[in-house]
Amino acid sequence: MSTHHKIKWFVLCLLFCHLTGCMQDGSHTSNQIQAQNNNKMEYRKLTPEEERVIVNKGTEAPFSGKYEKFSEKGIYTCKRCDARLFRSDSKFDAQCGWPSFDDAIPGAVKRVPDADGMRTEIECAKCGAHLGHVFLGEGFTPKETRYCVNSISMDFESILKVDPAKMNDPVKMTDTAIFSGGCFWGVQYYMEKVKGVISTEVGYTGGHKDHPTYKEVCSGTTGHLEAIEVVFDPAQTSFENIARLFFEIHDPTELNHQGPDWGEQYRSAVFCRNDEQKQVTQKLINLLKEKGYKVVTEIRNAGMFWKAEDYHQEYYDKNGHMPYCHGYVKRF
Ligand SMILES: [Zn+2]
Repeated sequence: MSTHHKIKWFVLCLLFCHLTGCMQDGSHTSNQIQAQNNNKMEYRKLTPEEERVIVNKGTEAPFSGKYEKFSEKGIYTCKRCDARLFRSDSKFDAQCGWPSFDDAIPGAVKRVPDADGMRTEIECAKCGAHLGHVFLGEGFTPKETRYCVNSISMDFESILKVDPAKMNDPVKMTDTAIFSGGCFWGVQYYMEKVKGVISTEVGYTGGHKDHPTYKEVCSGTTGHLEAIEVVFDPAQTSFENIARLFFEIHDPTELNHQGPDWGEQYRSAVFCRNDEQKQVTQKLINLLKEKGYKVVTEIRNAGMFWKAEDYHQEYYDKNGHMPYCHGYVKRF
């Protein structure tokens, strides 16, 4: 057997060990992690499949995860607690069926002996979420390290949404909020000017149609609302600050319309990413109701946000007009 073939066999054996090892994934500390999970309200609520992997230390099927062949630039974060874990420039294709990285963001990933006694498990250092395993000395890259990670344990922050000055921060420094308050041009006009807002995008959310177009949303058949996704730096502003502004630049008492724009896609809603956002939104609605406003704003769970066509982005700034149906009114 040539050296080349020996190396090939060695790699195949390692892969086999990894695959069979995955079948034995235990849940020896799952209760512990679950307990931590219950105590931390800010953790994202997991789907049953996410919980199987992240809490019960399962493994997603090889070649099935969304980040396996993914090559965009940005930062991979913990699905459960948002901590930053891996940078895209550490990612390489090990052809093993899972996303592979040869380095982690310093301090972000904890190595622990696996229950199988052979492998080394990797966890999110902040919340203990199961990520996968780490393998050393395989010769893939000069760092001789392969963090083999389940796609489902991670989220991805595009470099386009990251403040370049904070690329190396171990903790995710951005947060996201999604609002619907009538024509999205006007909401974006005000939101993008807030201190601490890193970027905004207008789009569609809340409905059932994938990749909806403006025409489809206007037809009223998709269930989507015109919405804005606001990415902000929690060190400079807060969800509450932005939510307060939201209630003061649109009229939260108008049902199924905003000014001259009529239709269910223009109704008032906050799409919340976690319990904290829901509590803050509810608090603001209660404050307004105490002041006599008959608020109709809906509190909903954030789901998929579909970016709108380019010509809708920063519409007023590009066209030099002022919003026709939004304006600041002090309400709090
Ligand atoms: Zn985490």
